[in-house]
Amino acid sequence: MFDAKVETSEGNMVVLDQTAFNPRGGGLVSDTGTINGIRVVEVIKEGDDITHHLEAGMNWKRGDAVSGVLDWERRHRIMRMHTTAHILSSVVNRESGALITGNQINPDESRVDFNLESFDKDKMSVYIDKVNQAVQRGLEVRTYFMKREEATTIPGLVKLANAAPPSLDILRIVEIGDVDTQADGGVHVRNTNEIGTVVGLRTENKGKSNRRMYFTVR
Ligand SMILES: [Zn+2]
Repeated sequence: MFDAKVETSEGNMVVLDQTAFNPRGGGLVSDTGTINGIRVVEVIKEGDDITHHLEAGMNWKRGDAVSGVLDWERRHRIMRMHTTAHILSSVVNRESGALITGNQINPDESRVDFNLESFDKDKMSVYIDKVNQAVQRGLEVRTYFMKREEATTIPGLVKLANAAPPSLDILRIVEIGDVDTQADGGVHVRNTNEIGTVVGLRTENKGKSNRRMYFTVR
């Protein structure tokens, strides 16, 4: 639970002076939860504002004190899934040279897309096994900030096929033990032992050289 003050409130939308809710972005769904008992269905970053979309409209005024509650279990699943997506991307990249072309992190089922030509169930289970081996090593996940010029000199820091680091001077770096280091803004677990077991669900062909892999954590 966190306390905050209303900055602006309009219809079903409210912006607070501070929030624990992580907005949608970078392939991650937003957090959900409640503000003063009213369900928060989605949280979206618009410019510098983080707008909470509520299930119902409230007549809040600027300065009103409210308290927010995050659906922490759901958030933790998002963190587990997202950290897994990084490890999986790194494993697939190392094993095949493929780059990530997209991802969507949901609490129940997540996916990562790779620019791979040949791919099948057997390969998926090999990759998932390697992911689980890494997860079980209990790797520490560290977050720190680095100057963009410095970050871009580190090989493999940006594995996204179509996206260089955003045009920021300072990048947030997320390092998962010796397995993956990325410029990244999303939420992660602190140690891979929080992830549990990664399960490969299925694969899909999305075009000639685009392969989609679905997974979950248990
Ligand atoms: Zn990420």
